[in-house]
Amino acid sequence: MLEEIYAHVLRRNPGEREFHQAVREVLESLPVVLERRPELCDGSLLDRLCEPERQVIFRVPWTDDAGRVHVNRGFRVEFNSALGPYKGGLRFHPTVNLDIVKFLAFEQTFKNALTGMPIGGGKGGSDFDPKGRSDAEVMRFCQSFMTELQRHIGEHTDVPAGDTGVGAREIGYLFGQYRRITNRFEAGVLTGKGVGWGGSHARPEATGYGLVVFTAEMLRARDLELDGMRVVVSGSGNVAIHAAEKAAASGATVVACSDSGGCVVDEDGLDLDLLKQVKLKDRARLSAYAEQRGGAAEYREGGRVWDVACDVALPCATQNELDEDAAKTLVGNGVRVVAEGANMPTTPDAVRALRAADVLFAPGKAANAGGVATSALEMQQNASRTLWTFEKTEDRLTEIMKHIHHTCHDTAERYGRPGDYVAGANIAGFELVGESMQAQGVI
Ligand code: GLU
Repeated sequence: MLEEIYAHVLRRNPGEREFHQAVREVLESLPVVLERRPELCDGSLLDRLCEPERQVIFRVPWTDDAGRVHVNRGFRVEFNSALGPYKGGLRFHPTVNLDIVKFLAFEQTFKNALTGMPIGGGKGGSDFDPKGRSDAEVMRFCQSFMTELQRHIGEHTDVPAGDTGVGAREIGYLFGQYRRITNRFEAGVLTGKGVGWGGSHARPEATGYGLVVFTAEMLRARDLELDGMRVVVSGSGNVAIHAAEKAAASGATVVACSDSGGCVVDEDGLDLDLLKQVKLKDRARLSAYAEQRGGAAEYREGGRVWDVACDVALPCATQNELDEDAAKTLVGNGVRVVAEGANMPTTPDAVRALRAADVLFAPGKAANAGGVATSALEMQQNASRTLWTFEKTEDRLTEIMKHIHHTCHDTAERYGRPGDYVAGANIAGFELVGESMQAQGVI
């Protein structure tokens, strides 16, 4: 029956490879649930689960600084609202298309369920490339994007946030335009806002910090600890940098990170203040980090972090960045844990290679859920018109990540797959969403 449903998804969504991959990965975890809980796996529920509730595609015209008009495409896929308003980020990157947004929204549905917070799954974005654009150009683009998106969102309907290419600057411009068009200061309509205007402390840090909490819990379950381990992260954006920061604070040495041009290897541990300055403030290339670090760091043009020996690898850049060859290299160098900070960065073949070598593997929908969980905490603060301290927010985030780890670990054991966090996350997420869909009837 699961094969039939997958075949139907393939027929109905031709050419959408990432979406197929994300669906397949979840369906592959479900045969054990099908045996024990056939009521949850009836054809209609699974068919509905694989079909977005709503998909919006729109034109985004904007004018660059030279007066030239550009036309981009905007997307919002509202996948599942059985647990709460659609929730998920916006990605601005030239690779964004309907396939990418659908796979991300599908993943988000299960991730959000695992947080235990009342949020459904959605995702959006545009093929706009913010790289090399002035602040004024980014602002005009965001204003045009929001002029259409505002019809579809709201604090009880759909609550976007950031993702690749969308950070505090973009959320600011988007929120400003929403407020202007609707004449409402509706703080809960977007998350990732600045702390002075409805944002939450610890939101920028949350995905990376949460990833490291999850990783430490996995290690603890095997009587190991992060202290003293060598870590590599891929990427050098918000998730990668904050994962590196938390790992270093836990006593690990983070020896490498990357961007689309190459990677840096810094045997003494990355200088995180310098990395933040170069990547988050100056929006410059990693080669600039190596230059400013003097002889301490080596820049490898076109190089991959997976070739650097490590105990822990944290893919934090983008989908399908860690392939089978990279997984085998990591295994050969003695890696013990791979935990996904990005969404679906590890290819299915790579996951198989890691699992076959008994490497602990955490899927993104569990390990990187700290970001969206803290977004839900931001919504909670907005609803009660309060601002929690950084410490209180981080404590809640830590509790949530431990809860997610516990849920995935226990579910995997309960279904006879001990140590299989992929099965644990998929089954637990599916049970939560499926039970609620069933209770709410055929809609
Ligand atoms: N884009 C992030 C994710 O992949 C965060 C989404 C949010 O905060 O709504 O989970």
